[in-house]
Amino acid sequence: MTRVFSLPLRTRFRGITVREGMVFRGDAGWGEWSPFVEYDDATALTWLRCAHEAAFVGWPTPVRSQVPVNVTVPAVDPPTAYDIVRLGGCLTAKVKVAEPGQTLADDQARLEAVRSALGPAGLIRIDANGAWTVDEAVRAVRLLGAAAGGLEYVEQPCASVEELAALRRIVDVLIAADESIRRAEDPYRVRDLEAADIAVLKVQPLGGVRACLRIAEDIGMPVVVSSAVESSIGIAAGVALAAALPELHHACGLATVQLLTHDLGQPSMLPVDGMLEVRPVEALDGFGASDERTAWWLARYERVKGMMDSCD
Ligand SMILES: [Mg+2]
Repeated sequence: MTRVFSLPLRTRFRGITVREGMVFRGDAGWGEWSPFVEYDDATALTWLRCAHEAAFVGWPTPVRSQVPVNVTVPAVDPPTAYDIVRLGGCLTAKVKVAEPGQTLADDQARLEAVRSALGPAGLIRIDANGAWTVDEAVRAVRLLGAAAGGLEYVEQPCASVEELAALRRIVDVLIAADESIRRAEDPYRVRDLEAADIAVLKVQPLGGVRACLRIAEDIGMPVVVSSAVESSIGIAAGVALAAALPELHHACGLATVQLLTHDLGQPSMLPVDGMLEVRPVEALDGFGASDERTAWWLARYERVKGMMDSCD
């Protein structure tokens, strides 16, 4: 069984307001295929391997029954940041910083609010989405680390792997690579240049749970599993990876179902006390895309499935 879905986002993300994709039901369960619409077929093929693993192969045996996750705090004002952290119920907060149009003072105020909401035992990580030069990052990490009362790590402070490597030789704070890891070969480059302490891995862009387990073993770096803002069907694949990793030192970025106005998966992958349960998710009826979008996705699927079949 194959279906095309369309789920509105609460707020614009990567310039889109609707998350589209397909779900498949196979012998092993449901799989989600939701490569962003601008991606070419070769890129979408890697994402399809993840969905097919979920639907037709199944995942490795988990070594834990629940996975810690972080609450995500967008570049909002301090009172809103405080409320998001309190409502989130997580022990780790990921705070967006370096938003265009905002200042370091805005980031400092947001981080102070997040610390007061989390309490002294909570962990704060910041995500600059590659916005800083090396020099800017050196200054920002020092000031924001003080405002936050300590940082678990800084995610993608600069855009390039070379800049991450340079920054890592200057500052003490741990560095995580996110945007620098988009394709299966990228984690090895991050490792070889000693550009990060932590690798952010996403199951769809990297080809599935087993592919990510191999990468994690090969690179020998702690991993944070994050989502590509999937429905709970797709999030379940990320949870399966986080649950199967031999070691999991950091909370994962998998609490993103709240970014959608509706969820295709049942039960929803929503955290309780900062944890996601490892459990099967079924697809609900509804949330179908328009006829035009459905036709577009089915044609894309036929092309990409053809590529996969000719590779295998
Ligand atoms: Mg990030």
